[in-house]
Amino acid sequence: MYHAMAREADSQPPDSEGENGQSDSEEARDARKERVLHTRIPAVLEAELKAAAAALRVPVSNLVRTILEDAVAVADRATGHVENSLERAARSVAAERERLRTRVKRLDPLSDVVAYQPLIIAALAHCAKCNTVLEPGDDAALGVTSRPGPKIFVCKSCMPRRSKN
Ligand SMILES: [Zn+2]
Repeated sequence: MYHAMAREADSQPPDSEGENGQSDSEEARDARKERVLHTRIPAVLEAELKAAAAALRVPVSNLVRTILEDAVAVADRATGHVENSLERAARSVAAERERLRTRVKRLDPLSDVVAYQPLIIAALAHCAKCNTVLEPGDDAALGVTSRPGPKIFVCKSCMPRRSKN
């Protein structure tokens, strides 16, 4: 058995009510917390999830979270049979790797990068990691990927440091 964990991102901004934070209901505070869910899954499904996560080069927990978000969205559109949708989504992981790859990539835009090439920006661009504007003349790095696609740039503070000088 494998204990799958999923985290729900904190989608709310930090508490801006400040001093009257105490007036928040328990529910409101709970809704802002990340949750850790534990569940038991069959060993065959564990193997499938691990293989899929390895193929996508993402942590198993990221993959599980993506699947859960998908399943809940599907269940919302249908009649709310969350468990059925969840099982179906999990079991079709192998068949859906390509679609999952796209979704997971949105979580980590740099997941396909194999190297960084320092350069100077010539045309307006954005950092793929922090979204900061890269203007002509800025130091930046090109994220080199092993597959074709749009150019990925990262700003100076987001590019990894050299391990040796
Ligand atoms: Zn950046």
